[in-house]
Amino acid sequence: MGEGMTRAPEYGETLRIKNLRTHFFTRYGVAPAVDDVTITIPRKGIVGVVGESGCGKSVTALSVMRLVSRPGKIVSGKVLLDGEDLTAKSPREMRQIRGNKISMIFQEPMTSLNPVYTVGSQVAEAMVIHQGAGKKEARDRTVEMFRSVGIPEAEKRFGSYPHQLSGGLRQRVMIAMAMVCRPRLMIADEPTTALDVTIEAQILHQMKELERNMDTSIMLITHNMGVVAEICDYVYVMYAGRIMEQADIFSLFDHTMHPYTTGLLGSIPRSGRGGGRLYNIRGMVPSLLSLPKGCRFRPRCERAMPECAEHEPELYEAGRGHWVRCHLYRDSGGGETR
Ligand code: SF4
Repeated sequence: MGEGMTRAPEYGETLRIKNLRTHFFTRYGVAPAVDDVTITIPRKGIVGVVGESGCGKSVTALSVMRLVSRPGKIVSGKVLLDGEDLTAKSPREMRQIRGNKISMIFQEPMTSLNPVYTVGSQVAEAMVIHQGAGKKEARDRTVEMFRSVGIPEAEKRFGSYPHQLSGGLRQRVMIAMAMVCRPRLMIADEPTTALDVTIEAQILHQMKELERNMDTSIMLITHNMGVVAEICDYVYVMYAGRIMEQADIFSLFDHTMHPYTTGLLGSIPRSGRGGGRLYNIRGMVPSLLSLPKGCRFRPRCERAMPECAEHEPELYEAGRGHWVRCHLYRDSGGGETR
């Protein structure tokens, strides 16, 4: 990757996904769901990975957790957690790492919570299993964690069953479960998509607080640029298995470069827009089994040029630390070096 892609962040880094390729070997052909992706998650700050459904962001997260199931497979690249390559770990070692050093929360907490146990006992159990905590210590820390994620009457909620809680409280329980072992990295995959906007704002605020107060890095996966704007510090925009643009949040919003990112930003409702129609990117995400020649975004791009059909663009550094995969920026500076 280009030099800027591997520059060590100011606070050091927790995770580096390096030239990762995760492909799905189907009977119709090979689908490159993650195609040479490099992402750095620093010790401090929240990194967003954004794109429409089917762009490869969730497969990237599952690759980090080594939870990609067949016919998917990591075919090359590295996933370095504090410098240790997770792609080289045995299944047993990965079981230790999951829940302990890396945790993940998903969109729908009901699928991750067991309906027949109280939410408190489920969170406490994670601590007993992963950290060998005693029962009393596990209970006390669970209640403390419930408080820090904003669960009211934390003592009482310890004994509630999942169905007795609202969607917002269940998601807070999931965040508590993800954080209770103080992991190095928390991956949140669309954690607020199923919630209404008020609860969403509260949960995002809580995640930001946790990131500030604990030594846990956060990778947030979302299709929603509004969520990105709310809490992310650095952003990777993914499309058809590739990183299309990456920049810090201010640069990305103030100097948006890639036509795909422009389209994603146009779909955020903003006050002062005068009730005008939200912009929709025309067309659909291409099938990974039949990607267009040249730029993968070309069939949907309003700025496409003849050369876009011929060659796939590299990532160009078009501003300091602002990288974009588009021919429009070819002459703006350094490109990828491999
Ligand atoms: Fe559009 Fe061409 Fe840039 Fe692709 S390379 S995003 S088709 S202008």
